[in-house]
Amino acid sequence: MNPDVTTELYPAERLARVQEATADYGLRAVLLTPGPDLRYVTGYDAIQMERLTCLVVPASADPFLVVPRLELPAAQASPAGRLGIEMVSWDETDDPFALVAARLPAGAGRVGVADRMWAVMSLRFRDALPGTEQVAAGNVLRQLRMRKSAAEIDALREAGAAIDRVHQVVPRLLRAGRTEREVGRDIAAEILAEGHSVVDFVIVASGPNGSSPHHEVSDRVIRDGDPVVVDIGGTMPSGYCSDETRTYSVGEPPVRFRDYYEVLREAQQAACDAVRPGVTPEAVDAAARDLIAKAGYGEYFIHRTGHGIGLETHEDPYIVEGNTEPLRPGMAFSIEPGIYLPAEHGARIEDIVVCTEDGYERMNLVDRGLHVI
Ligand code: ZN
Ligand code: ZN
Ligand code: ZN
Repeated sequence: MNPDVTTELYPAERLARVQEATADYGLRAVLLTPGPDLRYVTGYDAIQMERLTCLVVPASADPFLVVPRLELPAAQASPAGRLGIEMVSWDETDDPFALVAARLPAGAGRVGVADRMWAVMSLRFRDALPGTEQVAAGNVLRQLRMRKSAAEIDALREAGAAIDRVHQVVPRLLRAGRTEREVGRDIAAEILAEGHSVVDFVIVASGPNGSSPHHEVSDRVIRDGDPVVVDIGGTMPSGYCSDETRTYSVGEPPVRFRDYYEVLREAQQAACDAVRPGVTPEAVDAAARDLIAKAGYGEYFIHRTGHGIGLETHEDPYIVEGNTEPLRPGMAFSIEPGIYLPAEHGARIEDIVVCTEDGYERMNLVDRGLHVI
């Protein structure tokens, strides 16, 4: 990635913010192993493996990065290399957990561990830091991670445009007589061809498979008259994710399908239109759900309306009943109501939106009408 882009996406002052948040939260330190939290703070996309890599951010001492010796060149070459933090390498026969414990400022209390830290590492830290309670570092980081910077929104916009381009070719790939798996393989290739570095998921759910929201692909042969839910996403070189669903129909779909598809489309629009600062996620969820329920399909909308997105496909804020933490400018999340008729078919429409100062901006612009192929 272009170094200027990296600096804007992963600004050096972020580390100081995390340190402040660690102190505010009353923690002795946060311990970030490879994963989205570490990448958010440093830009370092480290490999998750059995050898410990860990950024230690004490509340009131200099942060340091513990890395296996063989990973040191990669760590130095990563955006973390320009942060000026001390890198402490360990050899194959050293105990890196004891190393972290020895360098942590004294005291018991609580430490935050990365939400995605492997359990086996959390247990090793429990042994290395007796009397220290572990809490989720996500609590410290979520307020920062939830509100995207201008550079992060640019990255999401770029991801949204890339997955839009993939949906634009989907009608050419979907044909009666092909299996979901064949279509899925072609879509995965397009996801990479359009600029993603990783294919995160490909759902091609035809006919009755469309009634299972997280069906992936199968060897089912697509038939004439099948509605097909296509939900796809990947990770861009920036680290930011895409996620977009459109529902297609191969030939003329069943009458009932057409009926509820229009309901769904209105519901998705209503939920988007509800987005602005100060509105609660549960109110956005209700905007979609109430319309679907009024049309008689309430029992077939079996999941929340959306999820936050950024360095992870699913992160805070969740657009769900019970979430009353008001939306703020910069929050990015999906709006994806669905209607699923068991054993018959289903439909979902999903866009990523960003809450702006006075409303919302969509990251996905492909037409939301029913695509009959
Ligand atoms: Zn999902
Ligand atoms: Zn989604
Ligand atoms: Zn999706």
